[in-house]
Amino acid sequence: MLMTCDRCGYRGEGEEFRHVGNVMCCGPLVFRECPRCGNPVICDRQEMREEIENTAREISRRVEAAISSGDTTQAKTLLKDLSLLNQCLNLEALQEYIRSRRREIRRLEKNPTNP
Ligand SMILES: [Zn+2]
Repeated sequence: MLMTCDRCGYRGEGEEFRHVGNVMCCGPLVFRECPRCGNPVICDRQEMREEIENTAREISRRVEAAISSGDTTQAKTLLKDLSLLNQCLNLEALQEYIRSRRREIRRLEKNPTNP
């Protein structure tokens, strides 16, 4: 299967792209790394866009749950996944969401007992 890197436009067989990991550990989405520039690439983005969007929504829900229970470590891990997903989706709204949640996490870490 041919894959294309969004960042540098490199095209190659899937095997050339090193396997980086799955989103949310057990999720269906697999990240691979572009052999030329190291950009994370998700295979077949057009076909998988809907699935990626669904996964992004699911991760956002988990971010909210992690933040409301004060688990900033978990929230940060989830936001990292989310920002990788957004390299595929390129949604400005999602980018803004990630930024605002990161600010919220920093605030929580500075002042964990005072909501
Ligand atoms: Zn590349």
